Amino acid sequence: MEKETLLIHQGYTTENHHDSLAVPLYQTSTFAFENAEQGARRFAGEEAGGIYSRLGNPTVNVLEQRMAAIENGEGALAFGSGMAAVSTILVHLTKAGDHILCTRGIYGCTFGLLNIMKEKYNITHSLEKLTTEEEIEASIKPNTSCIYIETPINPTMEIVDIALITNIARKHNIPVVVDNTFCSPYIQNPLDIGADFVLHSATKYINGHGDVIAGLLVGKNKEEMDKIRSTVQKDFGGIISPFDAWLLIRGLKTLHVRMDRHSKNAEEVFSFLASHPSVESIYYPFDEKNPQYEVAKKQMKSGGGLISFAVKGGKEKAQQLMDALSLIKIAVSLGDAETLIQHPATMTHSVVPEKERVAMGITDGLLRLSVGLENSEDIIEDLKQAFDNLKL
Ligand SMILES: *Cc1c(COP(=O)(O)O)cnc(C)c1O
Repeated sequence: MEKETLLIHQGYTTENHHDSLAVPLYQTSTFAFENAEQGARRFAGEEAGGIYSRLGNPTVNVLEQRMAAIENGEGALAFGSGMAAVSTILVHLTKAGDHILCTRGIYGCTFGLLNIMKEKYNITHSLEKLTTEEEIEASIKPNTSCIYIETPINPTMEIVDIALITNIARKHNIPVVVDNTFCSPYIQNPLDIGADFVLHSATKYINGHGDVIAGLLVGKNKEEMDKIRSTVQKDFGGIISPFDAWLLIRGLKTLHVRMDRHSKNAEEVFSFLASHPSVESIYYPFDEKNPQYEVAKKQMKSGGGLISFAVKGGKEKAQQLMDALSLIKIAVSLGDAETLIQHPATMTHSVVPEKERVAMGITDGLLRLSVGLENSEDIIEDLKQAFDNLKL
């Protein structure tokens, strides 16, 4: 079946659930055994069924099966946050003394985690552009045990060629992990392009309604995912609550419809911003002037809902523009129904030293817009009146 159908049906039948059409919420911490013998069988793995919700829960299992299907993996695990998914896979793939090769721009807390791993366990990392075969080959070290990439990169929307990296990684037998949060599984499927693991902050597009913090990890090999479930996930314990899993199941049902509208709205907002005299530069994956447009087209189904743009006049004008908005809310996070705007230099990337930040393209005038599901003309109208207020 196609993705649109899987998002709604995969992993659930109404049988044995009192014919409930909606997936039931099993809000329980533990499961009662019929007798001592059954409890022993479940612990020994001889009988399927519930034991304790950190080890598995029927509501969470539906979410995991659905995610595995739409990312074309063999297994999925749900977590209490995107960062719990990131930390679980990095702990699984590394040991003291190893090296992790990353794209130059990665999510701030992932960067924080890499620094903890370096300081405490001597697991080093390098942040590279990874745009040519020579450069990727030269960046791989004898102790590289994992390649960790994000694309598009936050907030500059640079595109990393997933196939180029996975082809080289395969020769060296190094697993590749892709943070696919910005695209959602509807727009991009890294496992189809050779990645071994794909993860999401489900807080963003997968939930889509701005009311849950959650993470998901999908792997292409079932045995390895089972192993992570029974080791790092179980013992580090960063699991999702049944209620949050239930909300994600509800969110997933409309993912395809929402992503189509996010992308359509973003294209219209992009056209407005790209021709506005107060916009100094603009970054959107499906911008034909983007040097990586061909790579974006190759691996992404549509441009997605995120646009970054620099306002002429730097930080002062960028902040004035934000304050002049009324429909558009000033908030970090992304992928919600509401259009959100944030200022990376003083918000999501404020911990990055200024020199590095500017080298990454995150200038003082840069703003990141997560285009929501409102009427696109209302979004554009709000931006227009805010620019008019700037009097540049
Ligand atoms: C938000 C985000 C994360 C972290 O996810 P949480 O759910 O906030 O823990 C990781 N990667 C990317 C790209 C994100 O946007």
